[in-house]
Amino acid sequence: MEDFQGLIGLRRAFRAGKTRGIEWRMGQLRALLKLVAENEARFFEALEQDLGKHPVEAYRDEIGVLKKSADHALLNIKKWMAPKKGHLPLLLFPARAEVLPEPLGTVLIFGSWNFPISLTLDPLVGAISAGNTVVVKPSELAPVCSSLICQTIPLYLDREAIRVVEGGSDVADKLLQQQWDKIFFTGSPRVGRIIMAAAAKHLTPVTLELGGKCPVILDSFTESDLKVVVKRIVGGKWGPCAGQACIGIDYLLVQQKQALHLIESLKACIKKFYGDNVKSLQSICRIVNKNHFDRLCSLLEEPSMAASVVYGGSLDRENLVIEPTILLDPPVDSPVMTDEIFGPLLPIITLDKIEDSIDFINARPKPLALYAFTHNNKLKDQILQETSSGSVTFNDTMIQFICDSLPFGGVGQSGFGRYHGKYSFDTFSHEKAVLHRSLYLELEPRYPPWNDFKLEFIRLAYNFEYVGLLLLLLGLRRRYTSSRGR
Ligand code: NAD
Repeated sequence: MEDFQGLIGLRRAFRAGKTRGIEWRMGQLRALLKLVAENEARFFEALEQDLGKHPVEAYRDEIGVLKKSADHALLNIKKWMAPKKGHLPLLLFPARAEVLPEPLGTVLIFGSWNFPISLTLDPLVGAISAGNTVVVKPSELAPVCSSLICQTIPLYLDREAIRVVEGGSDVADKLLQQQWDKIFFTGSPRVGRIIMAAAAKHLTPVTLELGGKCPVILDSFTESDLKVVVKRIVGGKWGPCAGQACIGIDYLLVQQKQALHLIESLKACIKKFYGDNVKSLQSICRIVNKNHFDRLCSLLEEPSMAASVVYGGSLDRENLVIEPTILLDPPVDSPVMTDEIFGPLLPIITLDKIEDSIDFINARPKPLALYAFTHNNKLKDQILQETSSGSVTFNDTMIQFICDSLPFGGVGQSGFGRYHGKYSFDTFSHEKAVLHRSLYLELEPRYPPWNDFKLEFIRLAYNFEYVGLLLLLLGLRRRYTSSRGR
């Protein structure tokens, strides 16, 4: 692929129609499932090496998600590929309309390092289902997973249609100089801008799966409910990739009077789930590399932070581990509250009343995910009506990611476009409008020379479908009587 000969081959394969048929698409999805099944242990090993991910977490967030996605596509692909009937105005009778999904062509997928298997291969499921040829670039920041993907894909999938290109931003830059039919990017808003600028040169459509600060709104709860709530917050914040997750909890909003009790409950749960010694934490990932580790440390080392840390803050530099850390009311203009954290630090911001959380969220860029723990339907409505985010989940965290029936994607600064389930198929398809007309029944008022009657006819025909039909019938009657008179 270095000289991009591979790209020419992919284009040729697409033009030859190799990837269009359902057999090819289903065959590739089955092959991908086989790849995952036969290499599961290697994937576990790679995820352990790149991120210290435990196999349970690896299966829950990556391997299982990918399998589920490919299975779902296999089950539904025939339905997704079928043309959908379109409704037509009676004026056009007799005619037939359909919306025909067609593959876009040769597409480019940029994977991400935090879920280096699922966030690289799940978009591939969509691209294959939609019948495209594909170049996949895994993230260089998860090198063992990137290399494993690069080794295994050519052994299982069609080499003439699916290629893996490894490398960093230099390779990404070279890839972006090529013309693609779609670019699907998962990463930061900073690089998202570079992708979009490169795509603009060729008017290439893009999907940008970006990040941002995802808030949790925590309303008041009974003691027994709070136990569940706390588990879901701790599991959602520190569980998936130690907080290095785009839909991970970034900060938490709670009423001031509840904060101290909440912090005590969070501490107890953290200790139970992960332990309390930074040297022997278990079931939690490490930070991906030294750069990200230093970035997170610098957030903690801000002079204003010392007074905010109410739990954790210990570091294991050698093993790139940061203890789950809770910050109470850090200044809202400090980097921990202005930048995306993407790590195991949880700022808690206290408010006078929980309804103030709406203004707090609206004063910041639109998040990828918003979580709210509440039984209050009025507050739920207010959140839905008065805030904007890629998704809203009530009374849980992160689980929206595994719902194939829900679109996954951002809005505003958290990105645009969406995927998962049928949305993945749509993201990599063009919906072609097809109209089949008959040569019978010609409506003369659509043609010049113009007169007042024709203007009136067209006005009525657009406004009232039944008038169109009536006029059609009148036209028919005239034709019938004139032919009898001949
Ligand atoms: P990043 O944007 O730095 O890198 C992503 C990709 O861009 C990599 O493949 C890299 O090779 C490429 N790249 C880097 N610099 C480039 C350049 N100058 N030109 C061209 N390509 C370049 O992302 P990251 O920091 O590795 O990941 C963290 C970000 O990704 C966070 O903002 C997070 O929220 C976001 N993210 C979003 C999702 C989602 O599904 N929405 C998932 C995971 C991560």
